[in-house]
Amino acid sequence: MTPRVRFAPSPTGYFHVGSARTSLFNWLYARHAGGTFVLRIEDTDTERNREEWRDGILSAMAWLGLSYDEGPFLQSSLLADHTAAAEALYAAGHLYACDCSREAIDARTKDAAKPGYDGFCRERDLARSPETALRFAVPREGETIVHDVIRGDVTFANASYEDFVVVRPNGVVLYPLANLVDDRSIAITHVIRGEDLLPTTPKQVLMWEALNDCPGVESVPLPRYAHLPMLVNEQRKKLSKRKDPVAVESYRDQGYLPEAFVNYLALLGWSPRGGEEVVSRDVLIEQFALEDVSHSPAFFDVKKLAHLNGEYLRAMSLEQFIEAARPWVAPWSSPWRPTTPPPWTQEQFDEALFARVAPLVQERLTTLGEVPAMVGFFFSEVELDEAAFTKSIGDDPLGQTMLAVAVERFAGLTWLATTLHEATAELGEALGLALRKAQAPIRCAVTGTLVGPPLFESLEILGRETTLTRLRAALARASA
Ligand code: GLU
Repeated sequence: MTPRVRFAPSPTGYFHVGSARTSLFNWLYARHAGGTFVLRIEDTDTERNREEWRDGILSAMAWLGLSYDEGPFLQSSLLADHTAAAEALYAAGHLYACDCSREAIDARTKDAAKPGYDGFCRERDLARSPETALRFAVPREGETIVHDVIRGDVTFANASYEDFVVVRPNGVVLYPLANLVDDRSIAITHVIRGEDLLPTTPKQVLMWEALNDCPGVESVPLPRYAHLPMLVNEQRKKLSKRKDPVAVESYRDQGYLPEAFVNYLALLGWSPRGGEEVVSRDVLIEQFALEDVSHSPAFFDVKKLAHLNGEYLRAMSLEQFIEAARPWVAPWSSPWRPTTPPPWTQEQFDEALFARVAPLVQERLTTLGEVPAMVGFFFSEVELDEAAFTKSIGDDPLGQTMLAVAVERFAGLTWLATTLHEATAELGEALGLALRKAQAPIRCAVTGTLVGPPLFESLEILGRETTLTRLRAALARASA
């Protein structure tokens, strides 16, 4: 039997990196085994769902290249199936009506050894009404074993579970049953999801088996479970929606590459054979095995992700790099736009010029989002960074002298990176300045800051006229 797996996100917030990892591991499992990957949006919590979050999930999955074979199904369109399953369980005696209010339960159980519902209505044989919920009669004895591909057999004592609510008085069927009914109807063979859902799993196993025994309900084999390890931050705490950068969209907007992001996500709880960390999608698919997933928490390390992204950027051909940078440098001709526009207008931008500049920055980047600030001085007027100007020119008489002699020397020079380099070194030497020191005022005057792409190559591309104009302007500003 070929595997059928599903990703079942709830659209109640930004698409979380943990959800992306779950989605990826399901996708890899299906692609490795030639199975089917189904997408089901669990949108039944109408108070917390938003359409834009559903769209966010779809667009993030498309960005990551996680294509699904069936779906997206909307759970909200399957409510009749959930109700039918609840009715079958009720008819077979697995559910019972309960009219206990929260207050009544609390009053009865405040001194009880075991927290939760005390089974008060279990033998009362109450008639159903708009005031009654339906609870599942959990066996009082025995244990439920979750056969987990990653964790092995995990045993839960049935006595540790209360008779949980399955259907609310208003008729709403709650997540644990709705989710498994949908998994049954699309014949899911492996439920691969986050560790946070492990405590719910015994309830689902009990209901799944109970349904299989219900007259008139088709028996469906229980899926294999695989609960993926939790993602933690640097303090080894569960990633926090508020404090940690967890929204996948924000990584796209900052200029992470989908291939690098997928590669990094794959390493969260799993490692390729041979220990190599830069692994292409094809190799991930070829090597991925659920059995090799670890159960220890995985550190979501933004620094490592950034490092990997830099490696992917450097490994691109120039053409690929220019294309990937398009949304950041020419958003008007891109299907989507990052949050910050470049510091130049469409009129100022010059495609051919960017093609010459691109090789100078490709080697030095962590994310594509850094490109505009690095190359802004090629396309628009330079804006001098105040601190950089003061340090290298304003408060530095030698820096000013250096600019003055450079203006003269550059005026008659053959305009090449090599000759500019030599001339700067020579002028610096005459003033007792090392090359780095000699470059600083020139870099500041021309690019606005003290860090950036290689200076002499940049000057060659920028041209004599612009370079000299900027050197003179900085000098004038220093003496003003
Ligand atoms: N909709 C559930 C959630 O987002 C996932 C359920 C599952 O994967 O079984 O937490």
